[in-house]
Amino acid sequence: MVLVQCPGCGKEVSREAMQCPNCGHPIRTQKPKKNHGCLVAILSVVIFFGIMGAVVVGAIGQNAGIQKAVSGVSDSSEYITMEEYNLIETGMSYDEVKEIVGSAGEVTSQVELNGLKMTIITWYGDGVAGSNANVTFTNDKVTAKAQIGLQ
Ligand SMILES: [Zn+2]
Repeated sequence: MVLVQCPGCGKEVSREAMQCPNCGHPIRTQKPKKNHGCLVAILSVVIFFGIMGAVVVGAIGQNAGIQKAVSGVSDSSEYITMEEYNLIETGMSYDEVKEIVGSAGEVTSQVELNGLKMTIITWYGDGVAGSNANVTFTNDKVTAKAQIGLQ
């Protein structure tokens, strides 16, 4: 039997007792403070998501940093977006594509065979490391395009 001190008369009474047998003062059983536990749980969750958020934001920032380093692009307008990529159509000239993207891109491959001049131009995507678009020009007309990770 757990004894507690009666708040009325100070005698030790059973914690299970509803009232003090001596003075009749109600005995409050000391329940564990659930609110406190709840608050700690909520705080933990908030802190957890706060940290996760910071990690994710950090990762995105780092990703953009990697992409910048890899592509050597300093101005974000030189990147290609998914929207710009979608505007590129077969048969367009390099100048038209250049105008859509807003930058010259980078020649990654150039082959001339039997009078066919094939050039692959790469534009880097904004943000995500490794994201890019490759557009294949055959005799200065778009014949193929491919992208990875554009936003
Ligand atoms: Zn009492």
